[in-house]
Amino acid sequence: MKRGRWTLPDKASVGHPERSEGSPAKHRDRSVASLAQDDTGIIDGAKLAAALQADVAKEVATLKARGVTPGLTVVLVGDDAASAVYVGSKERTCLELGMNGETIRRPASITEAELLAIVDRLNDDPAVHGILVQMPLPKHINSDAVIRRIRADKDVDGFHPVNVGKLSIGEKDGFAPCTPAGVLYMLQAYGVRTAGADCVIVGRSNIVGKPMASLMMQPGVDATVTVCHSRTNDLAAHTRRADILIVAAGRPRMVTADMVKPGAVVIDVGMNRIADATKKSGTRLVGDVAFDEVREVASLITPVPGGVGKMTIAMLMANTVRAAAQLS
Ligand code: NDP
Repeated sequence: MKRGRWTLPDKASVGHPERSEGSPAKHRDRSVASLAQDDTGIIDGAKLAAALQADVAKEVATLKARGVTPGLTVVLVGDDAASAVYVGSKERTCLELGMNGETIRRPASITEAELLAIVDRLNDDPAVHGILVQMPLPKHINSDAVIRRIRADKDVDGFHPVNVGKLSIGEKDGFAPCTPAGVLYMLQAYGVRTAGADCVIVGRSNIVGKPMASLMMQPGVDATVTVCHSRTNDLAAHTRRADILIVAAGRPRMVTADMVKPGAVVIDVGMNRIADATKKSGTRLVGDVAFDEVREVASLITPVPGGVGKMTIAMLMANTVRAAAQLS
């Protein structure tokens, strides 16, 4: 049975790619003016995430009226500071949207069997619609075994092989990983014409690059996709062809202006901490794209922070609500 959509919210189609015509430089669709009307050429991830979350909150209310409260449970193992921050904001967002959000915290000394037992319990709990085990896990735990143990229909992260396969073959009741799903939502909300566009993705990881490629080549999205990686010959020759350039390499500011086609849409997934003596923390977050110079060339670009990162949690909420709808 095919229910739901890869990019859950029907409102995501406010800026149907097909609606905007013309050269990449004219990609902006004025029909999404409320979301995207600015002449900065900068995609506002915070605004888009807020719009998506508002839609999710409405769907939560509808489900609650039917007696179903969507619930996400996150399992956090160990005391990695960055993971604790992500998990905290996931739980907070759940509660803000009227969902149940629970975090199960366990020390890094937990055994694989103990962690699998937690997953089994959540799989069987009808009040839990989405399960997320925060990565990375300690080395003594086989992450693949944990991911495979989560019920595919509760795997709102979209990492279970069944969901990877469903995305690949276009079965629409699966879950696409949240970051690439968030990128597609952004492109659609800003009215970027994807059909027939040359989309170049830098990075081939299982959580970003590969699912991004699957999404961009789906019928209905219809981009022509090239995936580059560290063994790609002459990376710049590929990136310069891109109407839509999506970079997820984890290399601070590696994409420079000379690597970008004038008028291209540039999506920067990278999140890299670099030293910055002017900051209290001594570090600052930068993307994989040299933002200041590339924004002069691109027609649209995402900043870091304030771009893709904001969409990931919103898309996780959207996936969880769809899981609840599909399971109830
Ligand atoms: P991985 O390290 O798993 O993958 C990086 C990919 O980039 C690999 O495929 C690698 O190639 C490729 N690559 C690395 N260097 C180069 C290069 N010089 N030229 C071409 N390709 C290169 O990273 P992730 O996919 O997990 O994450 C990528 C970035 O996105 C990171 O900065 C991460 O922090 C960020 N991220 C942001 C999220 C968000 O919510 N905004 C969510 C997830 C990730 P190869 O396969 O050959 O090694």
